[in-house]
Amino acid sequence: MRIDLHTHTRCSDGTDTPTELLEAAAQADLDVVAITDHDTTRGWAQAATAAEQVGVGLVRGIEISCQTDHISVHLLGYLIDPQAPGLFGEIERARESRVTRARRMVERIGEDYGLTWDEVVAQAAAGATIGRPHIADALVARGDLRDRSAAFAGILRTDSPYYVSYYAPDPVDAVRLVREAGGVPVMAHPFASVRGRIVGDDVIVGMASAGLAGLEACHRDHTAAQRQHASDLADRLGLFTTGSSDYHGAGKPNRLGENTTRPDVLAAIEQQASSGVEVIRP
Ligand code: AMP
Ligand code: FE
Ligand code: FE
Ligand code: ZN
Repeated sequence: MRIDLHTHTRCSDGTDTPTELLEAAAQADLDVVAITDHDTTRGWAQAATAAEQVGVGLVRGIEISCQTDHISVHLLGYLIDPQAPGLFGEIERARESRVTRARRMVERIGEDYGLTWDEVVAQAAAGATIGRPHIADALVARGDLRDRSAAFAGILRTDSPYYVSYYAPDPVDAVRLVREAGGVPVMAHPFASVRGRIVGDDVIVGMASAGLAGLEACHRDHTAAQRQHASDLADRLGLFTTGSSDYHGAGKPNRLGENTTRPDVLAAIEQQASSGVEVIRP
């Protein structure tokens, strides 16, 4: 069984439609794929239809933007109730703040590069969760930069003068809200220091007390030592570990199935979920 539990589509900052994601998952010989767009479940319906068509299993999920002490934390929420008011109240607040923040960043970048908001909007699908990758795509479209990676290595870095932060819920609160929504919370790339500042183990201990189920240990942004640390900490806290690609289509080098999750871990996720949203098995 090949299981990849973290991917993005055009509903956030990936470049595939949900249908294209499921087709790519079949091509990559995956048995099960999770759709986990940033702060939205908008891709679920199309992904579910495509899963039946291409014969790949589907875990419906989300990647929730969180923040603590000015450090960004990403929380995967699997099999949540997509209408849970507590969780989606926080997520909507973060989505709105993302738009305000992107506009501010574009104003700042525009002073030096002439970039406009319309050019950024043109890079995002209608209703997509707006993020720095769309600003990157607009700069690439202008010919100012080669690709998203170049943007994230410079203009879009968190320590760049153009960077603006946005409202996001505290990760401990988000873990509680995912459980209240009947879902299963797993911390994405917990020790990926290449992406920016990371939280200390104490924060993860707090998340575990609030109901965290697992840590995404196998992720390309982790070194071997960071994977080992995630695995050791998970053992200590009674959490499971997952492995995933964090596929973004053409937006990142990450390939589907480059890391995978064990079937018994998927079974634990299914067993812990209480929302009524089930894994789709064609
Ligand atoms: P934001 O949530 O708007 O702050 O933007 C962060 C998003 O940018 C993450 O979801 C990543 O998928 C994406 N990202 C981060 N680093 C890179 C990179 N080097 N190349 C492409 N995308 C990236
Ligand atoms: Fe992303
Ligand atoms: Fe992430
Ligand atoms: Zn992701």
